[in-house]
Amino acid sequence: MYINGDWVFAASGDKLTTVNPSTGEPIGTAPSANARDVDIAVGAARAAFPAWSGLPQGERNKVLFAIAAKIRENAHDIALVEGEEHGTPYNDAFGACMGAAEKFEWSANAAAALKGDEIPVPAANTLTYVKREPVGVIGFITPWNLPTIMTAVKLAPAIALGNTCVIKPPSINSLTGLKFAHVLSMVEGLPKGVVNFITGSGSVAGAALASHPDVDMIGFTGSSETGKAILASAAPTVKKCVMELGGNNPVLIFPDADIDASLKVLAWRQFNNSGQHCSGPGRYYVHEKVYDEFVSKFAAYAESLKVGDPSDKSVQMGPLVSREHQQKVLGYIDGALAEGARLVTGGVASETGFFITPTVLADCTHGMKAAREEIFGPVAVLIKYTDADDLVALANDSDYGLCAHVWTRDIGAGMKLIGKLHVGAVFINCQMLANEQPWGTSIKESGIGKEGGTYGLLEFTDAKLVCVNYN
Ligand code: NAD
Repeated sequence: MYINGDWVFAASGDKLTTVNPSTGEPIGTAPSANARDVDIAVGAARAAFPAWSGLPQGERNKVLFAIAAKIRENAHDIALVEGEEHGTPYNDAFGACMGAAEKFEWSANAAAALKGDEIPVPAANTLTYVKREPVGVIGFITPWNLPTIMTAVKLAPAIALGNTCVIKPPSINSLTGLKFAHVLSMVEGLPKGVVNFITGSGSVAGAALASHPDVDMIGFTGSSETGKAILASAAPTVKKCVMELGGNNPVLIFPDADIDASLKVLAWRQFNNSGQHCSGPGRYYVHEKVYDEFVSKFAAYAESLKVGDPSDKSVQMGPLVSREHQQKVLGYIDGALAEGARLVTGGVASETGFFITPTVLADCTHGMKAAREEIFGPVAVLIKYTDADDLVALANDSDYGLCAHVWTRDIGAGMKLIGKLHVGAVFINCQMLANEQPWGTSIKESGIGKEGGTYGLLEFTDAKLVCVNYN
């Protein structure tokens, strides 16, 4: 693990093994941290905080630009490790590294542009303003679905604003996390202790980080179930928590939708990263007038994809991340078929590795388990609706509130839905995620707090009220 600028084993000597999801074979081991290791890492981050947070923004920014350059220089190597351990196709993993580098550059520039306002108060000779200060030591607990970019999304704005961090990557992608740490260890000017990586299980290392009394804030991305456990761990010390959790995102296809254009976005998103995207389509409500066309074109797209070894640059979809997750996704497919869905294409699991062929399930209903829960896999759940259905009620009938996708040529009709959809993000005739935009605007059980853009940047600061009487 990478703690206080040194490479260390777990104090207990315990290790965990990670597996190549394309072959099912073990690929290596990583230390398995316990509460003692977490305590050492938090101590290192705390000790580094005064000097790092005290640096002028311009000095910290030089380090962030150096990190971005180092990530670009090592993108090929990071992409190979992510491909081997997570199953990300090479081109996607390489692109994620470029995205990760950009996060550091964007965060540095955005942090430098932050400014405050004087607040007029009803008293003479009184200056009131809000000063933004770094939060302190931040514990990050990251998910496996996008190992490299998720690390950058959290780390870049946090350190840009003077915070110091302890990161725990998901245990099944520990080596990808340590590869990122290795790249950071080569960055000149990054003081020891500013960024620390510990590896280990969620239930031991993650829980110890979430409950550590000297951690000021938790930044978490993962399932809603784990998010609730982390909130409970963080409650006794009243930590600030930013939680990006699960989703089951409704897709509304109106009768006038441009089907070809919609599929370029939706079908791509459905199968990219084997469907392991929080913002991806969860359940499709397709108007009866365009339903047959949508189903057959979706299936054609699914069948056109090249699935296989992620290191082959022509491969478009790799395996799912683990045997456990593959079995869970297959369970949803079997369950939907037992409840009356029609398998249009896919549904085949590999004998070697954890693949499932791109799957399209038609004739699903809103009440099916596969339509109610987050599958997080390469499975499109298609539901036909008619003019008699209350589309908004169907879309909102979920404990999740991450995002919704709307496709219609009638922009007015689409925009009238924005206020009615109980979600944190609405995409109309597109899906775009840029550095400038806030992500994690989710509501309901999909999260609290913001990530991305200036909204996300401000989460890594505390607002301090300053009031001076200069009579
Ligand atoms: P997960 O909840 O299983 O694990 C996430 C992290 O939490 C891992 O590092 C894990 O080791 C750790 N963890 C597990 N139990 C813990 C505990 N008791 N205390 C502390 N840490 C613990 O999630 P996952 O399966 O890795 O990721 C997939 C989920 O992430 C999906 O639900 C997806 O929707 C969600 N996600 C959400 C967003 C978003 O922006 N809202 C983005 C990506 C992924």
